[in-house]
Formats: sequence, structure tokens, C-alpha cells
Amino acid sequence: MRSIWETRHFHRPPDLVVVGAGIVGLFTALFYKRANPHHHVVILERGPFPSGASVKNAGFACFGSPSELLADETKEGTDAMLTRVENRWKGLLELRAELGDVAIGFEPTGGHEIYGAHDPLYTHVAERFDALNAALRPIFGRSVFEWDDTAVAHFGLHPGHHLVKTDLEGPLDSGALMSTLLRKVQAAGVLFRPNCSVVGLEDLPSGVQVKINGGEVLRAANVVLCTNGYARQLFPELPVEPARGQVLKTAPIPGLKLRGTFHYDEGFFYFRDHDGGVLLGGGRNLDVAGETTWEDATTEPIQNALEDLLRTVILPGTSFQVVHRWSGIMGMGPSKSPIVERRSERVVVAVRLGGMGVALGIRVARQAAELVGL
Ligand SMILES: Cc1cc2nc3c(=O)[nH]c(=O)nc-3n(C[C@H](O)[C@H](O)[C@H](O)COP(=O)(O)OP(=O)(O)OC[C@H]3O[C@@H](n4cnc5c(N)ncnc54)[C@H](O)[C@@H]3O)c2cc1C
Repeated sequence: MRSIWETRHFHRPPDLVVVGAGIVGLFTALFYKRANPHHHVVILERGPFPSGASVKNAGFACFGSPSELLADETKEGTDAMLTRVENRWKGLLELRAELGDVAIGFEPTGGHEIYGAHDPLYTHVAERFDALNAALRPIFGRSVFEWDDTAVAHFGLHPGHHLVKTDLEGPLDSGALMSTLLRKVQAAGVLFRPNCSVVGLEDLPSGVQVKINGGEVLRAANVVLCTNGYARQLFPELPVEPARGQVLKTAPIPGLKLRGTFHYDEGFFYFRDHDGGVLLGGGRNLDVAGETTWEDATTEPIQNALEDLLRTVILPGTSFQVVHRWSGIMGMGPSKSPIVERRSERVVVAVRLGGMGVALGIRVARQAAELVGL
């Protein structure tokens, strides 16, 4: 018993359905709608709000620490490593230009990597440091990383560590980013439908049948799947493993010296200041099998390891109280590169952003929107 108004405005068959309202899904819908203002674009999101990694992450606006980039170079070669750095750097610049530094809470307080005094990783990075900086220079037009061991005391970290810094990175507020982006997408005329879990996609000769939990079925001209770590729930053959990341946050610490974003232990741990306290995540490497899961949860061994790192490296001799713990699901696979490809005539997937979605999300979305027909 639908009225003509409902039929015309709310039940009009969508020209594009985007599945998943993370940073990739929202930007995909925005770019497509901008290019096709008269098309009906609908985002179907499983949660009551965006609920994936984009609202669970640590908010590092980063393009890669020296040890991460050197590991990528060893695994994939220099060109692949440099291409991804360039994408991440340009992605960050585009993100900041599109939404504005104030709206996303970007703080230009710098990115850092620390190494233990006798850590072989330190020797490895030190040996290849100048060559890495030289290789990065054409992308940034200047030197990127510099050593600054004196900053270890300045930030209150355990003495004896070595530290590399860059002034080109910094933390942002992922909640502010995502709510600003969601408002922008809705203002552009995209229909955001929360609490709609897509349970099936079927290609038809003239469109795609999109089945939603509860029995509703939409007929869309095109679909872009932006479900990242959950991609295999709809396309089991995609090489995307769920990868849980756990995080904790302390209460404000009087006199906290830490400022900026920090990577530690090959990037397996990452921490930053937030609201006068420390936000710390990582430790997936301690239980890779257990953390390969779609279940949002924290576990005692990993949370204990995070607290241990606070006590021994980040806040030595300072008492702290953990007031918040959470987890989020990333999408990872045999390659670090995201998958942006057409799965059928009318279905595109844009998934597997790894731990780089803040920087890469906007560019992956542009690519997906172009594939579907900007
Ligand atoms: C703990 C943690 C820390 C991180 N830290 C950083 C960081 O500091 N910097 C950085 O660059 N990256 C970081 N990342 C990675 C980054 O958050 C992701 O790469 C990025 O958010 C991925 O965005 P996305 O849009 O692809 O996916 P998501 O944000 O995961 O969005 C996917 C959406 O799809 C929805 N969905 C899933 N299945 C369905 C379905 N069947 N129907 C409808 N909707 C569905 C989900 O609810 C979700 O909202 C971190 C990730 C985690 C988990």
C-alpha cells in the first residue's frame, strides 16, 4: 500500500547501491553522486551507524614508518613500495582538502617510529636509512625522515630507545572524520539506510538483485561492495582475511609528554596521545590465528601485552588507568594492495584496505566510482 510519494522518492530503484558505510563506501557514493546528480544512490549499512574499521581505528594519518616501508620493499620491490607511499601521501592530502583539517581533527604533531637500544631492526633501518630517504624524495620533494634520539626523553619514553620522526604525519579524530563525511554524503543527496545487512547479490540481465535481511529486495542498476574485512561473507572466493585489531585508551595523565603518532616493533604496536591520555593498539602478531576473526572482542593476553608496553616503554614510572577497550576488523590478504575490481558486469568490489584505509580510502573510492561509471 505505497503512496506515489513513497514510490517515487524512497522506493525508486537505485542506479547505484553501495554496500557498507565505511570511509570507502561513503566516498564512493559521494564521487558517483557528484558525477551523476540525477541518479538515485543508496548506501546500505549493516549497523545503526558506520560500524567497521573506519570508526574503530587509531586515527593515524600516516604513509608508512621506515621499518614498514623497508619490509614492503624487501617483499614487493622498490617500485611497488614507492607507488603505495605516493598513493597514501596523495590520499592524505586529498582527504584533508576534501573535508578540512579542523573537521577531521587532524593534528600536525608528527609521526614517529621507535626502536629498542639493541633491536636488530634499528641496525637494519639505520643501514638503509639514507637510501630510503633518497628514494622518497621525488614523491615529497624534500627529505622525509630524520633521526632524533633526544626526543625519546622529550616524549617521556623509556630511555635508550632510538627515534625517527617525520613532520608530515599526525593523528586525527576518526569519529569526526566519519560523521563529517556522512553529513556531506547525505547533503549531496545520497540515501543512507542503516540497519540494512545485505545477505545476497544476484546478477540479472538488467540489474542486480540486492537482498536485505528481513526479506526486502532492491533492484539496482549497479552495486559497489565496500565491506572490507567482511567481504568474504558475500564473496567467499575473495582473498580477504578478517584481521582483528585491539585497542585501549587510558584516562588523562597529568603532565603527559607524548605528542603525535608512534610505531613500535615493526608496526605491530602503535600509540598516540588523545584527550590527554594514551591510545594504544596492536599485538595481533601474538595470536594471528585467534585474531583472524569477524568477532568484535578483546582478549586478555593481548590487552595484557598492551598494558605491559605502557608500563615498560610508553609510560615508564607513571601510573595510568585504562578506561576504554575496543576492537575492529580489518581486511588483509596475500598482498597489501586493496582489491578494486569488477566482479561481474554490474558489481564492483573495493575492499581489503589493511591498516591503511585512512590514507588510501578516498583514492580507492575514486577508483571504484570510476569503474562503475563516474
Ligand atoms: C584497530 C584498528 C586500528 C586501525 N588504525 C588505522 C590507522 O591508524 N590508520 C589507518 O590508515 N588505518 C587504520 N586502520 C585501518 C582502517 O581503519 C581501515 O583500512 C579502513 O577503515 C577501511 O575502511 P572501509 O570503508 O574499507 O571498511 P570499514 O570501515 O570496515 O567499512 C565496512 C562497512 O561495511 C559494513 N558491512 C559489512 N558487511 C555488510 C553487509 N553485508 N551489509 C551491509 N553493510 C555491511 C560494516 O558494518 C562497515 O560499516 C585500523 C583498523 C583497525 C581495526
